Amino acid sequence: MQISWIQKTTLLDYPGKVATIIFTLGCNFRCHYCHNFQFVLPEHTKVVANDLITEEAFFNFLKSREGLLDWVVISGWEPTLQGDLYDFSKKIKDLWFLVKIDTNWRDPKLIRKMIDDWIIDYVAMDIKNPIEKYNEIINVDFNKKDILETISLLLEWRIDYEFRSTVAKWVHTETDIEEMAKLISWAKRYFLQNYRPEIKLNEDFIAESFIASELLNMKRAAEKFVDKCDVRM
Ligand code: SF4
Repeated sequence: MQISWIQKTTLLDYPGKVATIIFTLGCNFRCHYCHNFQFVLPEHTKVVANDLITEEAFFNFLKSREGLLDWVVISGWEPTLQGDLYDFSKKIKDLWFLVKIDTNWRDPKLIRKMIDDWIIDYVAMDIKNPIEKYNEIINVDFNKKDILETISLLLEWRIDYEFRSTVAKWVHTETDIEEMAKLISWAKRYFLQNYRPEIKLNEDFIAESFIASELLNMKRAAEKFVDKCDVRM
């Protein structure tokens, strides 16, 4: 497992519970607005790869937090790129921690197997854009079938889950939000996360954050199709 960084404690990722987040190395997407591209682009990840956190150090830390920590979040960039994700997650579960995976869709078969084998407890999946406009954000070829399969898998409700979209002014319209919400119709939880313009992979990407009232309109648009939509400013 290539662990590039650990956020030792957060109460924000899973409300009411204490979580540790580990960030794996590398991503299959190249989102224009990505603000962590040093962990995404190969020319940067080669450097980061020289300074990874060892599994031994991570598990020693985890054992020192027994009784103090509820969740371990395995986040990306894109954790399903890690060939040993299943085994790594199982080792965490064997220590009786709950496991959440953040994914952008890449490997529905692996996610299904992890759900079937009780290796994960929660999945958060990114929805980047309406399906026919996905490339406009992720900037690489993608497999539409795998995205739809991961969505269907989560909508089966065999595991707790959320969908989330980073939304940006001049990029996402209210119609786009409706289309994304339709894609995940009846989802129990959908978050709209406001774009943060400070750092981005593509300097030429033109976008702004929404103001609160605009996000509220987006939330109302999404709520026509999903059970619950909330905004993260
Ligand atoms: S999915 Fe996009 S925003 Fe997220 S880490 Fe990958 S490139 Fe960056």
